[in-house]
Amino acid sequence: MDIEWSRRRFLAAAAATTSILLDHPMQAQTEETSPATPQEALDRLMRGNARFAVDQITSIAQDLKLLKEHTVEKQEPFAAVLSCADSRVPVELVFDQTIGHIFVTRVAGNIINSEIIGSLEYAAAVLGVKVLIVMGHSNCGAVSAALSKKPVPGQIASLYPHLEPAVADAGNDIVVATRRNAKLQANLLAKTSTVLAPLVREGRLKIEAAYYDVGTGKVTLL
Ligand SMILES: [Zn+2]
Repeated sequence: MDIEWSRRRFLAAAAATTSILLDHPMQAQTEETSPATPQEALDRLMRGNARFAVDQITSIAQDLKLLKEHTVEKQEPFAAVLSCADSRVPVELVFDQTIGHIFVTRVAGNIINSEIIGSLEYAAAVLGVKVLIVMGHSNCGAVSAALSKKPVPGQIASLYPHLEPAVADAGNDIVVATRRNAKLQANLLAKTSTVLAPLVREGRLKIEAAYYDVGTGKVTLL
């Protein structure tokens, strides 16, 4: 075994870890514990997105083997996200979070249906997430298709009725339609779910709509 090579590799790894801790001393300490309030949970997600937007993610440096071991028996995510299925919206990366932190549901057009509502109700009532974000994104194919009302094969058109209220008077403006859709779906969740609505009223859960720009990597709350 090449001891010198092993020593150099160890020193390089230690230097990299130290650099991460020095660059983000606050994150390194505070992100260990679960956020105490819905606002803190939201702030943590937005801090993660700020890191992602400048290509300085820290979650990748965490020990995945250890995280897997710690989450075998249970999960305690602090946030839930409903996003589009689009390949350009990798939710954990976008918020710089790792295993066990975000409960994610994804469907084209980030729309609400019974199964999505049920999943998010489980996240809030059973797992105790403190913030729930409905996130649309720029250049969304589902919203674009619903705007153009093009005939589509198979069951793709089953998405249209869910997107109809958002595209109805948006003209050809895909940004307006996408933002409106995220807000409408978030409002639907907050008002109609018999599980989520009381949690929101009691201040135990925050539901937010957001817009993700696939070009800049930035998430904007709506
Ligand atoms: Zn999309």
